[in-house]
Amino acid sequence: MTNSVGKGWASGLISTIKDPKNHIISSKDAVVIHDKYPKARHHYLVLPKADIPDIFHLNLSHLPLLEELHLLAQNVIEVKSFQLDDFKIGFHAQPSMQRLHLHVISKDFVSDCLKTKKHWVSFNTELFLQYQEAYARLKTDACIKRLTKEQIQELTASALECNQCEFEAKNMPDLKRHLLEHWAQRQ
Ligand code: AMP
Ligand code: ZN
Repeated sequence: MTNSVGKGWASGLISTIKDPKNHIISSKDAVVIHDKYPKARHHYLVLPKADIPDIFHLNLSHLPLLEELHLLAQNVIEVKSFQLDDFKIGFHAQPSMQRLHLHVISKDFVSDCLKTKKHWVSFNTELFLQYQEAYARLKTDACIKRLTKEQIQELTASALECNQCEFEAKNMPDLKRHLLEHWAQRQ
């Protein structure tokens, strides 16, 4: 198995999961932690205990592990008494941190940590690979392939479309104001 114990910021998740106090819930093979820089009101990460660097190192033998990650993702939503429909569950198609991690994020995207267009598009375009799509791709192709540089560039340049209505924002402050209005309406 690949050894992904790296240096610096990219290995932050590996350090975080080493301390059991950071585990919200866990199973034999995986743990759930809080995302340290949540991009929405509720943002968790599900990680395998095994040293799997990222989605590009998955093969057919990992399908049961993916199912377990997904189960834990659903469990944390249940444990916190939230609604499954209010969450997105998936992987970043171009991850930055080491150790495979499944994002579990509430769809409000109301957070001071959501700052840049890159943050927004990473969760709200095809740069976010929904769990079901990742599972299906792995099952069909026996691996998950990287997006091309051109695909990433195109998706990164996507318009700032609201994820809850037809609104298209001019910039991030505009989008954040708008998302806050949606959130306030729900309270
Ligand atoms: P990705 O782009 O999928 O690699 O996302 C990595 C995620 O890890 C981001 O949402 C970060 O906010 C989060 N993060 C970075 N460092 C830590 C850490 N030390 N503990 C928990 N979450 C972290
Ligand atoms: Zn909207």
